[in-house]
Amino acid sequence: MKTLLITGGAGFIGSALVRYLLTESQNYNVVNVDKLTYAGNLDSLKPIEKHPNYHFEQLDICDGAGLDNLFNHYQPDAVMHLAAESHVDRSIDGPMAFIETNIIGTYQMLESARRFYQKSQKADFRFLHISTDEVYGSLGPTGLFQEDTPYDPRSPFSASKASSDHLVSAWHHTYGLPTLISNCSNNYGPYQFPEKLIPVVILKALRGEKLPVYGKGDNIRDWLYVDDHVRGLLSILEKGQVGETYNIGGHNEKTNLEVVKHICALMDELSPKVYSHEDLISFVADRPGHDKRYAIDAGKIARELDWRPVENFESGFKKTVVWYLENLAWCERILSGEYRLERLGILS
Ligand code: NAD
Repeated sequence: MKTLLITGGAGFIGSALVRYLLTESQNYNVVNVDKLTYAGNLDSLKPIEKHPNYHFEQLDICDGAGLDNLFNHYQPDAVMHLAAESHVDRSIDGPMAFIETNIIGTYQMLESARRFYQKSQKADFRFLHISTDEVYGSLGPTGLFQEDTPYDPRSPFSASKASSDHLVSAWHHTYGLPTLISNCSNNYGPYQFPEKLIPVVILKALRGEKLPVYGKGDNIRDWLYVDDHVRGLLSILEKGQVGETYNIGGHNEKTNLEVVKHICALMDELSPKVYSHEDLISFVADRPGHDKRYAIDAGKIARELDWRPVENFESGFKKTVVWYLENLAWCERILSGEYRLERLGILS
């Protein structure tokens, strides 16, 4: 059985990956390395926390010596690197944490992986770096991001992720580290920290609070259900060509307003009130530098690795809203901490 070292496995996508590996795939030993920042949550791993093939290590990926110890101890066959500061609004308020974790942390991961790879003689070792479509910048009304679209990041978050992608590529070309990169569109699904658009809207709708829509709500994102992303990542790890980049997307381009209205319709159905939830929609000041449109051409991963999303917009959003309504205790435990659904990322 192969051993995977996963960073950021207590976050939204990382925890979905860890749960999937230990319940659906069952082909791997999983070592989850996570600092447990505000976004890391061991509650999201409760379904698998006692699994004999699961190991948790609390560590900051900026700690190179700590990483070396973990590589030597667990002798991983592959790394899936998801740990990151991930929220654009927080990167506007405080970019330094993004520089530290996303750039310095990725550098330390690459160096520890390189030291380990050079002495381990594991010919099939892989380092999969999980990144975002936001590195490509903002599209006009037409066109799609392809793997060779020039990088044009515009937020501190996307600039830090673009930097990390370049480091990964450099470590492959210069040192021969067997790397792969994935650039994925916006994810949604269960266990997402309630600072992001989808959980914010569901939880505020449930409380009968105003539903904040940035600007005119006409920014477009390509939405992908998180478990589809997880399956895409495993396809890349298991079948991808070393040194290559793969875009992952959901073929679900929607404006933010369309998404919020869709959630409102689901809330009307699943948690009805005397009024329509759409009445709660409130347009608020736009995010500074808000990218207009992201859209992914996921043709390469479909053609070469036979990956396609299983969920569509309707099925994925219904599952997501139902999950939040059935797991309010998970949300309430988070919201009893420092973050209380307030707006972040407004320039003073
Ligand atoms: P998240 O914020 O939910 O989780 C990040 C995890 O990383 C948390 O568990 C946190 O504790 C951990 N972490 C942060 N800093 C760390 C450090 N210094 N050392 C160790 N652990 C640390 O993020 P997410 O939404 O699950 O995203 C995971 C990855 O996927 C990120 O790299 C992100 O850029 C990428 N991605 C996300 C999306 C999306 O829509 N969420 C889309 C495409 C790509």
